[in-house]
Amino acid sequence: MTLTPPRAALPIPMDLFEILNALCTPVWIVLPEAQEILLANRAAIELTGDLTVEEMRHGSLSAHTHEELTAYTPLILSREQVIEIWTVKRGGNRVPLSCRLSSLRIGGQPDAILVEGVISGELKAPVRSREEPSLTQNGNESHFYEMLFRTNSAPMLLIDPASEGRIVDANEAATRFYGYSRAEFSQKHTWEINAIGREILPVMLEIAKLPGGHKPLSFVHRLADGSLRDVQTYAGPVEHDGKRLMLCVIHDITEQKRLKTELERAALRDPLTGLWNRRHLLLLLEQARVQKQLYDIDYSLILLDADLFKVINDQYGHFVGDEVLVTLAKAFEARVRETDSICRWGGEEFVILLPHTRLENAVYLAECLRKTVEKIQVPHLPKVTVSIGVAQHQDDETTESLIMRVDGALYQAKALGRNRVVSA
Ligand code: GH3
Ligand code: MG
Ligand code: MG
Repeated sequence: MTLTPPRAALPIPMDLFEILNALCTPVWIVLPEAQEILLANRAAIELTGDLTVEEMRHGSLSAHTHEELTAYTPLILSREQVIEIWTVKRGGNRVPLSCRLSSLRIGGQPDAILVEGVISGELKAPVRSREEPSLTQNGNESHFYEMLFRTNSAPMLLIDPASEGRIVDANEAATRFYGYSRAEFSQKHTWEINAIGREILPVMLEIAKLPGGHKPLSFVHRLADGSLRDVQTYAGPVEHDGKRLMLCVIHDITEQKRLKTELERAALRDPLTGLWNRRHLLLLLEQARVQKQLYDIDYSLILLDADLFKVINDQYGHFVGDEVLVTLAKAFEARVRETDSICRWGGEEFVILLPHTRLENAVYLAECLRKTVEKIQVPHLPKVTVSIGVAQHQDDETTESLIMRVDGALYQAKALGRNRVVSA
């Protein structure tokens, strides 16, 4: 098996490379923005197989605090304990692996993340000092913790990982949140409330090995009425009646997640058509340019502009004009591939980014789009046509230059009489 070679973009000193390789702990060095493995040592490669970082972080046995790796940067820079559970491969099977994330500076670049797989048993629960009484040794203390558990407004569950995650106890807030009585809870297991079902068991055993103090991990839980909620659960080890149990504190983040999705959508999408906005397309264009530089992947661009749209607005009014734009957007969406990105570039202008596409295929698609628009017939809506410019990205060309060329082609299509395709 070959080692992931150090990339030229971030030079890894050879002695570090060799030291990491001698470790039996799996170690990945990951670029969080690109989710790219910069280096994996021998132990990590054995667990990675053909999986990507995305697949290991979002596998069926994975659990994390944040969806995006980049969101950890402030946490790991302030040395907070960040743990994720990754789905890796061992002996051909998928298994969960606890990973500790910390920041790594290589050659003055602060943006790499060191991911250390934690081998079973390495993370120990904090050892209680002799002077510290246990929950059960001291009656008053036990009563205090019991009260804290009962009266807390955060839903809490006490779980026994050794018996398939049986729910040993639930506080009142949990009974209200999940809709089960305490008696019903005592018949249940974690896998009955976790949306992934029994697959959660190996993940739970992995979490049970973790010490306290890490960030809560995200899951989807099912309530008694069958509805699903996005939750973050903090699971810390507790000793009770000589047993090592897990105290889970559950935080409902469904609304928070919905708002975040809505905000992200608002930042990336055009409100009228729901297509990508110009800002996002510029980002996608930049990514396509880098992909081409690294892997020589061709891509093309189509710029479409509705013909004489001013006349439509003047004759039918602005609202009808808006409806025509939405109709055009839907027609484009229905015709392109899933990997293509359509953007509302401005008023009545649209841009389509076609990855893995050379000029002749882009021109063919543009002609299909032109004909599709020509045929659109919606009752009460005026007929419309589009003029189209097409260009393929050329070696070492900047995004700005590509846009200028495709704009020039569109200008020519207009000058030649509209409702036509011109390639640059
Ligand atoms: P050409 O064929 O040369 O492109 O002619 P045109 O009339 O389409 O071009 P021009 O740039 O002169 O006018 C664009 C028109 O598109 C003017 C503006 O009223 C209309 N427009 C831009 N954004 C919107 C929008 O969001 N809604 C509606 N209804 N109209 C818009
Ligand atoms: Mg225009
Ligand atoms: Mg126009």
